[in-house]
Amino acid sequence: MLVVMQSHATEEQVREVCRKIESLGLRAHPIAGAQRTAIGITGNEGSLEAGGLEEMAGVGEVIRVSKPYKLVSRDLKPDNSVIRFPNSHVTIGGKDIVVMAGPCSIESREQALTIAQNVANAGAHFLRGGAYKPRTSPYSFQGLGEEGLKLMAEARERFGLLIVTEAVDNESLDLVEKYADLIQIGARNMQNFSLLKRAGRARKPVLLKRGMSATLEEFLMAAEYVMSEGNYNVVLCERGVRTFADHTRNTLDLSLVPAVQRLSHLPILVDPSHGTGKRNKVLPMGRASVAVGADGLMVEVHHDPDHALSDGPQSITPDQFEVLMSEVKQIAAVLHRGVVAPACEPAAAVHVPSRAVARS
Ligand code: PEP
Ligand code: MN
Repeated sequence: MLVVMQSHATEEQVREVCRKIESLGLRAHPIAGAQRTAIGITGNEGSLEAGGLEEMAGVGEVIRVSKPYKLVSRDLKPDNSVIRFPNSHVTIGGKDIVVMAGPCSIESREQALTIAQNVANAGAHFLRGGAYKPRTSPYSFQGLGEEGLKLMAEARERFGLLIVTEAVDNESLDLVEKYADLIQIGARNMQNFSLLKRAGRARKPVLLKRGMSATLEEFLMAAEYVMSEGNYNVVLCERGVRTFADHTRNTLDLSLVPAVQRLSHLPILVDPSHGTGKRNKVLPMGRASVAVGADGLMVEVHHDPDHALSDGPQSITPDQFEVLMSEVKQIAAVLHRGVVAPACEPAAAVHVPSRAVARS
């Protein structure tokens, strides 16, 4: 059930309705929209009686929600959610497109800072990079752990980039929450419900990637898990699904973008790197992602992809990334959108000393 307040309802009236909902043993989620506030109600396992809510001051209407998801739904919030970051002009989900770029894994200090400098110069907003890597083989590089997070934090300091990195379990989420600006939940964990709940209690926004065989509804329900714990700052990311097609690593499902936008107010990004698995397909599918209406891109970039410790074949070079940024700007303009202003002025980027950090 969902309570839509009148457009002129006061904050006190919203609080009063929330108190009433909590007194029924339920949880109230007030979400302010451009026109009015709506209050999602969770905690009821079956259907719920309006219980006098309709008669309360400031209440416009009480709507029974037939869909299994409530808080992610446009019924609750008709206008798009815009995710903001403290002390930064960068937003996700507004008119302008955001770009996250960097290596699959953080491998060393020199590698992380070199790539960060390159993507910052080209106009990226976030440095992406894994410190905890969910690898298919236990014998593959598993990531530098906290050391990797520290290197990302150093890159943020030097180049003004925000940082996004994956948490694979509750323990790594504690650390990722401490260092990162945006907490990534990967495809393999999209239905790790205890991790989703923990992310829902985090004080940082969450980037949720689509599971490799998740339907649209399962994807939205995973976001609902995060929001139901009180973290309303969720960004979705399409990264390809498993199909019979074997010319790419995954099949990038770009029709998910307008499908999500019809049902949900949450921003949606596309990752054409994991979505294709092939360097030569990242630019074309990156362009297509912007054309289809995505709010941004997540792209793997490596200055020496042939020697990358993970996902080299799908990592584009810094030169290719520069081309992509310029194409993204041109396609965005056709859609009357722009690209978020760069995280830093290229002149602010300084030379990275070659003092390498040993791989652990
Ligand atoms: C990643 O972005 O580093 C990653 C592992 O992606 P996914 O979870 O989509 O496979
Ligand atoms: Mn990767």
